[in-house]
Parts: sequence; C-alpha cells; structure tokens
Amino acid sequence: MLMKRMPRQSRIYMDHAATTPVTAEVLKEMLPFFSERYGNASSLHFFGQEAKEAMENARKRVAKLTGAKQDEIIFTSGGTESDNTAIKGVVLAAKAKDRSKNHIITSAIEHHAVLHTCKWLESQGFDVTYLPVDRHGLIEPADVENAMKDSTIMVSIMHANNEIGTIEPIKEIGKMCGSKGALFHTDAVQTLGKLPINVRKMNIDLLSGSAHKLYGPKGVGCLFIRQGVNITPLLHGGGQELKRRATTENVAGIVGFGRACDIAQKTMDKEMGRERILRDRLISGVLKKVPDSCLNGHPEKRLPHNAHFRFRHIEGESLVLHLDMKGFAASTQSACSSKSLSPSHVLMAIGLNPAESHGSLRLTLGRSNTKEHIDSLLSVLPETVEYLRKVSPCTG
Ligand SMILES: *Cc1c(COP(=O)(O)O)cnc(C)c1O
Repeated sequence: MLMKRMPRQSRIYMDHAATTPVTAEVLKEMLPFFSERYGNASSLHFFGQEAKEAMENARKRVAKLTGAKQDEIIFTSGGTESDNTAIKGVVLAAKAKDRSKNHIITSAIEHHAVLHTCKWLESQGFDVTYLPVDRHGLIEPADVENAMKDSTIMVSIMHANNEIGTIEPIKEIGKMCGSKGALFHTDAVQTLGKLPINVRKMNIDLLSGSAHKLYGPKGVGCLFIRQGVNITPLLHGGGQELKRRATTENVAGIVGFGRACDIAQKTMDKEMGRERILRDRLISGVLKKVPDSCLNGHPEKRLPHNAHFRFRHIEGESLVLHLDMKGFAASTQSACSSKSLSPSHVLMAIGLNPAESHGSLRLTLGRSNTKEHIDSLLSVLPETVEYLRKVSPCTG
C-alpha cells in the first residue's frame, strides 16, 4: 500500500493536538534516569536523593510555567488522571464533610476525561449541570453563575477546546466561582506551554496538564491543587506526592516534563506567534481554495495552532485517510458511513447537524511545521476534497 511505502521523514505531521514528539533536549535530560540514576525518590540514600532532587527541580519548572507554588503541583500519569483526580478528589472530599454538597457544573464540550468522570459521578448520586455553548463554542460566564446552587461544590471548564480550539473566558468564570464559594477546575491540557497561564491571576483552584501535548513524554501529567483545597486521593498506598497520589514516581517522565515546561516557558511567545501566522495562512487558503468550506470554532479566540474546518458532502474519515496516503497526518471526529460512530459531542454542542459534523477536518500545527508545509497541503487539499465529492458524495 502507498501508505506504507512513503517513508516517515517525508510525511508532514499536522496533528499536534493529539500528541507531540519528545524534543531532543528533553529526551537527553530523561535518559540517565532510566539507567544510572535509578533511585526511588522516597529512599533516604544517595540514589534516592538524587532522584528526588531531579523530581523537585521538575516540579519547580512546572510551577513556574503555571504561576503556582512548588508544593501545589502533583505529578500524575497524564491529563486524564489529573482531570479524574481534580473532580472526583474534590467532590468526594466535599461530600464527606457536608452531605448536602453534591452539585458540579461543567460544559457540554469538555474532553471525555471530564465528561465521563461527571457521568460516572451522576451514577453515584451527584448532580451535574452540563452548560451549553454558543455557535463558536464559547461558554457564557453568566450561565455559570445562573447554574450555581447552594449544593454546588465545583465548576470544571476547560481553558481551550481540543477539537475546535476555542479559548474560554476562564478568568471571569474563576472569579465568579470564587465569589460564590465554589472551587474552579480547568483542563489546561491544550494550553499549557501555548498560552500564558497564571493560576493566581486567573482565579484557578485546580488545573490539569499533560506532558505529551507540549513535547514531553507520554504518561506524565500534572495537577495544580491550590493550597488549602482538600482532595480525596484516587490511589491509596504510600505517602508520595504529599499523600495525594501513592505509587513510586515516574522520575524519568517527570524530569522530561520539567524540561519540556522550561523550554515552553522560554520559547512560547515567539513560537506561538510563528504558528499563528502559519495557521492564518492555512485558514485563509482553505476557505479560499475549497468550495463549500467553513471554519469551526471562534475566529479570534482560538488556539494559535488550531484550524478546524467542515466541508459539505465530505466524510471526514475518508478525507483523513486520503490525506494520509498523500503524506499528511490530520484528524477528524467521525464518519457518516459508519453509523456506529456517533458525531462529535463538541460539534453537536455548537449546533451542527450530524451531516455537517461528519465532514470535519482538524489540522493542528507544531514546531516542526513550516510555510512550505502549509502550501504543500493547500496544493493537495482542494483536489482531494473534489475527488471525494465526486466518487462518494456524502449526503449524510
Ligand atoms: C489530550 C487531552 C487530555 C488527556 O490527556 P492524556 O495525557 O492523554 O490523558 C485531556 N484533556 C484535553 C483537553 C486533552 O487535549
């Protein structure tokens, strides 16, 4: 198959919202912790203290990137675990203290790590409000305020959406939560290292991040828990991570995450400016060259590396497969031919019908992408869309 024949080096990766490669400097800093620096960070001897010191240095770097204090950061196995710990951890602790507290507010466009956690909590007797969004995917802070009840424990609203890239007004939402006595959690997995974050200035009580979305390793995440916020741990066992997450720490992964945060901190402004220019070239090129195409998400309040389109009479999955054959890695949400796949909850929430949502394409740029990549994609996308419309028109 053509797909297999094209070598990896000549392919163009435009799916950075799914994951990113580990940067060479990050890998280099991680490597000794797989071999000679193998200590358990809980051990009192030299080997343990060497690992502990590296881990605390990483914690400092994550804290710096988020504006947190070092001891307000715990390491987890990824964004999913951070979201689970933040939400289950807070509501279980709150309900144990006061049985009348059982309400959570979130949005209809959260990542499944948040939505499925909330669904499970509903099955355990918690009361969850899923707020709607407007056609650009924006949450209205007044809607959060109106959803507040005496029983509300917490609000969980993502910083930016992983599909359509819309950036939410979390500073306003956080401020309002503070004034109403509810805790505010944000899933910042898509924004950590891409947009400036300051947990104090943004009124955030809990924040989730994941290393592999910012050129760190897979399987490591962070959770900021503001000093004074009580959580019930998900993992009981040893006393690691200030008794908030038992199990021997993934020291190499944590070290890599720390270095990735350090690099992001230093390069973010410049790199995001560069990617924003590429993204805008991509968006205007696609809208101009592909008939019946639209941009999904907010035109301005969007992640600097995210472009999300819908094409009429196109099946997103076929488009992604054809682009893959031509050497471009992109993403979609669903397919109109496979009825088993339900349309994206995010696209439904912004008011698209299933047929419209099926023809979606997400392109997310990263450090490796160049202007030539954009132009190369723009030279093959229009004919690919035209071909697919001709051979298998998707009427939805
Ligand atoms: C990727 C992602 C997650 C999950 O992170 P993992 O580290 O892969 O578990 C959660 N939330 C958002 C918004 C994401 O983009």
